[in-house]
Amino acid sequence: MTIQTDALIVGAGPCGLFQIFELGLLGVKSEIVDSLPVVGGQCTELYPDKPIYDIPGIPVCSGQELIDSLMKQAEPFDAGFHLGEEVVEVAAENGGFRVVTSGNKVFQTKTVFIAGGVGSFQPRKLRLPEAQEIEGTHVNYKVKDPSRYRDKRIVILGGGDSALDWALALHSNAQHLTLVHRRDEFRGAPATLEALERSPDNKKIDILRSSKLTGINIDGKNLVSVEIKQQDDEITTIPADDLLVFYGLSPKLGPIADWDLDINRKTINVDTERFETNIPGIFAVGDINTYPGKKKLILSGFHEVALAAFAAKTIIEPGKKVHLQYTTTSPIMHERLGVEDVE
Ligand code: FAD
Repeated sequence: MTIQTDALIVGAGPCGLFQIFELGLLGVKSEIVDSLPVVGGQCTELYPDKPIYDIPGIPVCSGQELIDSLMKQAEPFDAGFHLGEEVVEVAAENGGFRVVTSGNKVFQTKTVFIAGGVGSFQPRKLRLPEAQEIEGTHVNYKVKDPSRYRDKRIVILGGGDSALDWALALHSNAQHLTLVHRRDEFRGAPATLEALERSPDNKKIDILRSSKLTGINIDGKNLVSVEIKQQDDEITTIPADDLLVFYGLSPKLGPIADWDLDINRKTINVDTERFETNIPGIFAVGDINTYPGKKKLILSGFHEVALAAFAAKTIIEPGKKVHLQYTTTSPIMHERLGVEDVE
């Protein structure tokens, strides 16, 4: 069965979710697809508990709180959610587009909004077979539940913000924490490293610079210890219950690369009036697009989403003038939002 729609959004990160809202305000109902089983993109996957300080009008909120608010804001527009399915094919058909997912869902849509972020992003993983055996239990590439690490001997690998932030967040409640970085200098924020070094609990922390993991020892489904080669080439065995690896992400554009779009170093070229790609009717918003001066920030994505919605409306209802209306005062907006008119 083919699902007919005016707008199909690829990616349910912050920009995809706000795209539902901006289209909804213009009276356009959308369908949204994400390969992950949950909405939220990078905010939910990579930093659900971390504070964001640069969303206009929200002095501080966590990654997950932002996503929860965007979901609430999008609620009145009754979008169709299709999670855990990758969009694998987009092709021009019948004056619009035929879109197919990995779950074999087929959409016929007038417009497509690619809000695919860095594509299907995957953490860079350890190549050791032992690590694969206990992945998701004692070897992890993200922290889902910080309380799980209480009283544990933790080893964190990496030198960026994620490694430093989680070392700072977890060390006080841990039995012991070892932070291992292959270089002398950390890439993450110097203030975080300083906070870690000055922590009242710093007796529980070892920071090993110019060191790298050479092996891990497991016993059945448990981690026993890790082998670390230090500056002097000596290999030290460090007893450990949990290993957290923050070697960064390896972005994979995935199937998006095959849709005949004008790709520029894993991003899609767009104009800055409509945020449309080289294919009329296909828009690209958020981290996935590029144009002169592009900044990969959520607030930039929100602006792009609003303009792309206005541009798409002229394709969905050709010949009809699209008026800008304020949500504060417009009765049509209030009707679409499902709120009462206030005199
Ligand atoms: P994403 O959040 O990347 O979401 C894209 C979604 O598309 C993903 O869920 C992916 O699964 C899906 N997808 C991709 N390809 C397909 C496909 N073919 N089919 C189906 N689904 C697909 N920005 C700020 O403005 N302020 C901050 O303080 C801030 N802090 C950050 C901290 C960290 C640690 C990181 C990593 C990023 C931070 N950012 C911050 C950047 C911000 O998270 C991104 O700019 C934002 O997430 C981009 O949103 P997006 O919707 O474009 O893409």
